[in-house]
This record gives sequence, C-alpha cells and structure tokens, in this order.
Amino acid sequence: MAEEIPKKGIAGVVVNEGSDFRVEVQELDVPVPRDDELLIRLNCTGLCMSDVHYMLNDWGIPKMSEFGTRCAGHEGAGVVVQVGKHVRGWKVGDRAGVKPLHDVCHNCEDCWNGRENYCDGALQTGLHTPGTYQQYLTKPAIYTSRIPDGVSDEMAGPIMCSASTMHRALVESQLKPSNWVVFPGGGGGVGIQGVQLAK
Ligand SMILES: [Zn+2]
Ligand SMILES: [Zn+2]
Repeated sequence: MAEEIPKKGIAGVVVNEGSDFRVEVQELDVPVPRDDELLIRLNCTGLCMSDVHYMLNDWGIPKMSEFGTRCAGHEGAGVVVQVGKHVRGWKVGDRAGVKPLHDVCHNCEDCWNGRENYCDGALQTGLHTPGTYQQYLTKPAIYTSRIPDGVSDEMAGPIMCSASTMHRALVESQLKPSNWVVFPGGGGGVGIQGVQLAK
C-alpha cells in the first residue's frame, strides 16, 4: 500500500556557502515528481568529500545556490513512494539508489560507450540538482539505480559513489586473481572500498 507523503521533509541545508559554511536542519517542501520521475524517500546518505567542496565552493565551479540547490549529497538509498505517470518498470515500494550523476544526455559518444561521467550534458546530484541530505528527492526513473535484496541501505548509499569509483578503477586496471594491488589511500572512504572489492 502506498505510504502517505507529507508536505514537508527534513533536510540538511547548506547555510553561508563558502569557507564558513554550516549545515542546518530545516524543513523543505517535498517535491512533486514530473511525469518521467520517481519520488524517493531516502533512508540513508553517505558523506563524500565532494559534498564538502561543493559547500565550500573551492573548486572554481558555480555555486550550488546558482542552481537553486540547498542540499549537498550524492550517495543515497531509499524507497520509491510515488511514480510519475509516464514511468515504466518502477512501482511504489521499490528500493532506489541515488548516485552522483542526476542524469545525462543519453545521446552522445560518451553516453553510448559507458562513459557517461564525461557527458557534456551531465547534471551532478547535490550541485546542479538537490542532493541526498534530505528525506525526499525526485529523480529521472530512467537513470535511477536499483538496490537488490540483501544489500542494506547503509551499504548501498556509499556504493553509489565511493565503491563504484573504485570498482571502475579495478575493472580498468584488468587485475586478475593472485595479482597484488596497492591503495595509497587505503584508509579513506574510496580506498577502503578498493581493499574490500579487490579482495
Ligand atoms: Zn562522492
Ligand atoms: Zn551524453
């Protein structure tokens, strides 16, 4: 049965974006999904250093607020609570993951070849579009990740960014069983995923 969707949700909003930023707990309006979107109620979010850079605005890129984005975060795990009327293949109650890319153009050489992270039309979650430091988010159904049974939300969140970054690095390196692999940042969020994945 569909759960009741409140008008407001709790969010960690960036205040005073820049070198003195802080994250303040506020209530934000729950967004309404467009026809091709899902409304997701998040249970978990990872914390990524890129979030801190977005909020510090120290990367020489436009500010979050220039896109109307109030919450950082791009490693989310939750459940679908509403489905846009043109969405196929998703239903209320499905588990859903939110990743660093909000959406891509789906129609360029990079998108066609599994290199969407280089797509010129890519939109970043938590920069161009609202991030996962909040309870309710809308996402394009076509670009939302599924979370299989047996993977908890706590595990699935960081898989969206740090573990998938590492997974791709390991695949590209063409390592084979019995090879050695060294992670100079093995104690950090990405490196620790590498140690586990490589093992
Ligand atoms: Zn990240
Ligand atoms: Zn593209």
